[in-house]
Amino acid sequence: MEVRDRYAPSPTGFQHIGGLRTALFNYLFAKSRNGKFILRLEDTDRTRFDLTYVDNLYASFEWLGFHWDEGPDLGGPAAPYVQSERFETYRKYVCALVEEGRAYYCFCSAERLDALRREREAARSSESGYDRRCRDIAPEEAARRAAGEPHTIRLKIPLGEKTVFTDALLGVVEWKNDDVSPDPVLLKSDGFPTYHLANVVDDHLMGITHVLRAQEWLASTPLHMILYGAFGWVPPVFCHLPMVMGTDGKKLSKRHGATGLDEFRKNGILPEALVNYVALLGASYEEGKEIYSMEELCTRFSLEKLCKAPAVFDYRKLEWYNARYIRMKTDAELAALALPYAMEAGLFGAVGGRPDAGQIALFNAAMPLVKERAVFLYEIPAKLGYLFSEPPVPETAEFVPKKSTPEGARRLLVIGRGLATAIAALDNEGAEALAKETAEKEGVKLGDLLTPLRAAITGSRVSPPLFGSIRLLGAETCLSRIDRALEKLKAL
Ligand code: GLU
Repeated sequence: MEVRDRYAPSPTGFQHIGGLRTALFNYLFAKSRNGKFILRLEDTDRTRFDLTYVDNLYASFEWLGFHWDEGPDLGGPAAPYVQSERFETYRKYVCALVEEGRAYYCFCSAERLDALRREREAARSSESGYDRRCRDIAPEEAARRAAGEPHTIRLKIPLGEKTVFTDALLGVVEWKNDDVSPDPVLLKSDGFPTYHLANVVDDHLMGITHVLRAQEWLASTPLHMILYGAFGWVPPVFCHLPMVMGTDGKKLSKRHGATGLDEFRKNGILPEALVNYVALLGASYEEGKEIYSMEELCTRFSLEKLCKAPAVFDYRKLEWYNARYIRMKTDAELAALALPYAMEAGLFGAVGGRPDAGQIALFNAAMPLVKERAVFLYEIPAKLGYLFSEPPVPETAEFVPKKSTPEGARRLLVIGRGLATAIAALDNEGAEALAKETAEKEGVKLGDLLTPLRAAITGSRVSPPLFGSIRLLGAETCLSRIDRALEKLKAL
């Protein structure tokens, strides 16, 4: 049997880590079994619907680079994949349930249900939900009234029975039907289906074999099972995924770092890093292995690899992944990825300004200087400003090595000046050997020799690698920056 699973978001908010984890696990499961992954929009809640959220969904998944086999944009054998375009179908199926006596018309008004709730509250009653008042109206009378009176359609939950199913992760789950929400509404008075009806009908009609979804839906599953039973359909295999928490053990929220997928992108997180990390939230594949390509995940994923314990989303770990993925990029790839951030930061002149050919070449050549240490893409331009425009001569303190004085720094900078032209023509090893030899000869530490030189050339005592920077800037520029710095130090 072909595996078919789906991601079925309700477009009532921006895509976040939890949604990505559900979508990704469904995608990986389908791919691991040579099956089909389907996108379905559950937009029955029209009051909270917003087209911005749909656009955000498409943009986020485009960026992440994984795709569905069937969906609203692609079509497919079970089209349409948007619930608001399927209302006729739900009505047809729910009417069949009424015919068979498994669902019934309910004529209770919103006011009556409100009054019922208030009465119970006043009496401190433990009962909640619908009191099943219309459950036993004779079918003929109900049908006659339904032709003219506003009504909803409710599911007739078989009382005194148990609903049992086996969750692929959690094992056997058992509920007394009397504890399931009493006769929930399937079709609202305005003709709109509820989430439960649309979800079950669609999973059946779309041939969904497996439902991997967040554990918050577990409480709805007994009701869904009863609904499958009422229709006489075989339910899919359910697998309720472990919760995702913050490092403090609380439900994931803004406090734990960005949660909207858009924010990760804006912050310069690479999609591969995010996918790799999220694929490990609640699953473990191979002892000790942390880096997985999408292809590897597609072959390794299985329901047996899921963990029951809640997963912890740790932004610091995501940063670690991001740094690793930045290092795996070629210089050209990294330059292309960092370019939009550089333009936005005004690295090439005006904010948003495009680089000219010379600036592009310099930017590409500078990638080896930042690759080893960058954690986010947006940091890259900030680290490289001194290559594109002359930095102001820094404060005197920046030049002075530990336990030295401004006078000492000046002396060291004069020695450094004598090396700059040679370093600009040497590779890293050659430059290092020359600098070491000079430091020894002068009786100073290598680090101390380089501190004032670094401050003069890059504008700061902390910078990307100095020798590479000197090479990229060229001897002439370096000498002129050193001379400006010497002027300042001389004036002391
Ligand atoms: N529309 C539901 C959601 O937003 C889908 C739940 C399910 O996967 O069955 O999460």
